[in-house]
Amino acid sequence: MRFSRLLVPTSKETPNDATLASHIYLIRGGFIQSVGGSGLYNFLPLGKKILDKVRAVVKDELDKAGCQEVALSFVTPATLWEESGRLEKYGKELLRFKDRKNNDFILGPTHEEMMVNLVRQSVKSYKQLPLNLYQINLKFRDEIRPRFGLMRGREFLMKDGYSFHASEEDMHREFALMEETYKKIFTRLGLEFRVVEADSGAIGGSGSKEFMVLADSGEDTIVVCPDCEYGANIEAAVAKPKSYDADTEIKIITMKALYDEGETKIVHFALPVSIELQDVKACNAVNANDLVECEESTDIQTLVVDAALEGIDSLNAQEKSYADISAVQENDACIHCGGALTYTKGIEAGHIFQLGTQYSEPLGCNFLDENGKSVPMVMGTYGIGVSRLLAGIIEQNHDDKGCIWTKESAPFDLHIIISNIKDEAQVALGEKLYETLKSKGVDVLLDDRKERFGPKIKDFELMGVPYGVLIGKKLADGMVEFMTRDGMIKEEMSSEEILSFLEGKF
Ligand SMILES: [Zn+2]
Repeated sequence: MRFSRLLVPTSKETPNDATLASHIYLIRGGFIQSVGGSGLYNFLPLGKKILDKVRAVVKDELDKAGCQEVALSFVTPATLWEESGRLEKYGKELLRFKDRKNNDFILGPTHEEMMVNLVRQSVKSYKQLPLNLYQINLKFRDEIRPRFGLMRGREFLMKDGYSFHASEEDMHREFALMEETYKKIFTRLGLEFRVVEADSGAIGGSGSKEFMVLADSGEDTIVVCPDCEYGANIEAAVAKPKSYDADTEIKIITMKALYDEGETKIVHFALPVSIELQDVKACNAVNANDLVECEESTDIQTLVVDAALEGIDSLNAQEKSYADISAVQENDACIHCGGALTYTKGIEAGHIFQLGTQYSEPLGCNFLDENGKSVPMVMGTYGIGVSRLLAGIIEQNHDDKGCIWTKESAPFDLHIIISNIKDEAQVALGEKLYETLKSKGVDVLLDDRKERFGPKIKDFELMGVPYGVLIGKKLADGMVEFMTRDGMIKEEMSSEEILSFLEGKF
């Protein structure tokens, strides 16, 4: 591609609402464009190209693992969500609307109901199972406060996969296969990541793992053990139980629990003074949709006491239970090996769940087993935030000048800069490298613009193609520079040898 023909509106201006490197550089680098500052983005040619490359890696590994791609209707009849019981539960993040005949529809933030509907119409016998179907398609979530660019936009590209099985055991096999497949995808994309145990959240089910791209800017706190494989989202992390004695000081935290159809309940949580309440664990302990802070102080009717205090506390309440509601702290002992746990930050880029029959039962997704009995299919579900991965790659790979794309995600293999377009020798060498490498299948960007050298090198730094060749003044002495974007390392090289060097490298 010739830079002079490329639509890539790079900019020096940092967008007003941007704080994260990925948000700043994806816009400044001309990859994406904000649509009215509302958590919606257009993908410009290079952003679209990278999105397609990431998507191709995801698809390739999934297809090799036996998954089949489909494309579901983005617009979903609300009746399907009524059947599963999620229409109420999902709240305002679900965008709802009516068509001209007054029928209710939603834009799917996730597609369990749609996929179950597809399968229940076409699969009737155990002989047709197992099945793993996926799509890489748009999703919409009406975030109250969209932010961080592609990290938390309202419309996003997601790979969502769903597997259907005749037994729990077979679903576990597929879950393990998907974990391995996801590891291959994240490794191929050149990412540093960690697979951690996770809370299952609104999707439900039991047993879930998250794929965390490690980055200081990550929204999630991950608890990891330096001595073994253990890793978990703080929301699901457990440590070796601590022992407390009878005079342990106990604090009580009052919260309002929110339930379906606007129901609320005041609940109290008791735990040692030195320990923090983990909100998600607390929420799960009272089966609520959410917990909010609460000033009201009423008689203690519902009380959840941290499991570590069982047998020690002498608290009274009408309804009292014990549950793990404490946040794991750094240096707590690993539940598996006793190692000192540490915190790290990550971006959730993938999530796999063991769903069981949570959706197949209410939606009547049944099959006839070997004995001719009709039973619900056992399901798993597997997601990857494809557009979010672009942000994840940049959060992990950037410097103060711009993006540094990984090999599999890079918009080009090589970025050649002709420093002075009026210098015939520079142009001749640039054209020769460009045409020769292009004919050999190397994806090259040739900066042939009538621009000064300064903006050209700045664009190289900002756009983040992993390698570059600088054809400048030194060509008069028979020299060019080979540049590695990561670290901005420049090596002088003879202009006679540069072509064979590049042919060997790509
Ligand atoms: Zn450990």
